[in-house]
Amino acid sequence: MPDPEALIELLRQSGRKITPQRRAIIELLAHDTTHPTAEDIYQRAAAMMPDMSRATVYNTLHELVALGGLIETHEFSESGIRYDTNLGPHHHLICTHCHALVDISHNFAEITLSLREASGYQIMRHQITFYGLCPTCQEREKEQATPANT
Ligand SMILES: [Zn+2]
Ligand SMILES: [Zn+2]
Repeated sequence: MPDPEALIELLRQSGRKITPQRRAIIELLAHDTTHPTAEDIYQRAAAMMPDMSRATVYNTLHELVALGGLIETHEFSESGIRYDTNLGPHHHLICTHCHALVDISHNFAEITLSLREASGYQIMRHQITFYGLCPTCQEREKEQATPANT
């Protein structure tokens, strides 16, 4: 989980003003491990600060991505691109039913591509996504499979 002060410092060093709105967005992000979308962050931020605007949330997220303080994941939910505050190498577990997205810190030692397999690409990083049903969705399926005793 990133230190919110480090993210604030990143914006400040690039000449951005740190308004209370931006500070609130960063606090929310730094404590969120669910890979939220901009809309998720906006909904939560607006609940805390009624004068929060969507534009402030979207701009702050884009600036953090450009400055390397936040990563756009390649997973989407209904409300858009999901953001990752975990900048270290890690992999993902995703629930195909409720789209819960969890970090895995397992180190797969032998993941490399041969030059031919890489098709001339210069590889920067890799990330593996495991697809499955989360424990909550498994419970729900079980409940639906067993008819209730009435
Ligand atoms: Zn699920
Ligand atoms: Zn992640």
